[in-house]
Amino acid sequence: HADLAMYQAKAAGRNTLRFFDPEMHAVLSTRTALESDLRIAIEQEQFFLCYQPQVHVDGKVQGVEALVRWNHPTQGLLSPASFISLAEGNQMIVPLGILILKIACKQLMAWSSIPERRDLTISVNVSTMQFRQLDFVSQVLRVLEKTGAPANRLKIEITESLLMQDSDQMSQKMMLLKNHGVRFSLDDFGTGFSSLSYLKRLPIDQLKIDQTFVRDVFTDVHDAAIVKTIIALGRSLSFEVIAEGVETVEQKNYLTQQGCSYFQGYFFSRPLSIEALEQYIDNMTAKKCG
Ligand code: C2E
Ligand code: MG
Ligand code: MG
Ligand code: MG
Repeated sequence: HADLAMYQAKAAGRNTLRFFDPEMHAVLSTRTALESDLRIAIEQEQFFLCYQPQVHVDGKVQGVEALVRWNHPTQGLLSPASFISLAEGNQMIVPLGILILKIACKQLMAWSSIPERRDLTISVNVSTMQFRQLDFVSQVLRVLEKTGAPANRLKIEITESLLMQDSDQMSQKMMLLKNHGVRFSLDDFGTGFSSLSYLKRLPIDQLKIDQTFVRDVFTDVHDAAIVKTIIALGRSLSFEVIAEGVETVEQKNYLTQQGCSYFQGYFFSRPLSIEALEQYIDNMTAKKCG
């Protein structure tokens, strides 16, 4: 609704409101306030990461996805839905994205000296706008170098929107990072409209089945067919396939039967603070050993 109001206001002419609508006015001034807060928030590093386990079919935690949260001084905890698109709209996603990478890489560095944790990977969501920055590759390499994090533990999650205008420049960027050991996951796979031919041309390591397909896998025959097809496609092209939004044991069993090897979702765990995550991993390990 907020976005629609925004759109209508814009359509009416360059961010001006033709008719005064108090509700719309409130929406717009909240957005503007949040937008100016965003700059300060990045400077003051009011952001932190939650980590959601990614579990192998054998029960081992292979890695985590980093999900950003904003600890807003007056509004409390804000989820990415309320500020990522805002940050994309005014380019603040670039410094925010670098900050997120920094936090994740510091964590990878901290884990690299702990034998039980050094194999964990962290998947970081990168906005299409951030990836398209001319200096994106050097941004990532600089963060890796500064933090000392092992590049081969970092996974970058991109979406199909990035691949829709397939350019040489983009595959070059991916190749450069790939040569340093960075891996790529294609997030929300199946929801975009890109051609499948990029899958063989780009150095993608993992397909991530979008949670909307997983959610309705038992109630919508089309979603079930899509899930099956993505898993089969991934397997035949030798990609790792991970399902997101796995909430029930039935979903996990169905996905396993179809040949999916990695899972992420509330059935396993919600996104966790770093302390809770380490606790979760230790409990899982204890369960497996005894
Ligand atoms: P995403 O990358 O597809 O992340 C998955 C979202 O699904 C997360 O929401 C996660 O908390 C939620 N989720 C995980 N398991 C389940 C489940 O079993 N059921 C349901 N219903 N939901 C589940 P979150 O953290 O609110 O993030 C939303 C989106 O915001 C992400 O979607 C991603 O596109 C974006 N985002 C999150 N963190 C970052 C970031 O650091 N940078 C950028 N650029 N985008 C981010
Ligand atoms: Mg993601
Ligand atoms: Mg996703
Ligand atoms: Mg999503």
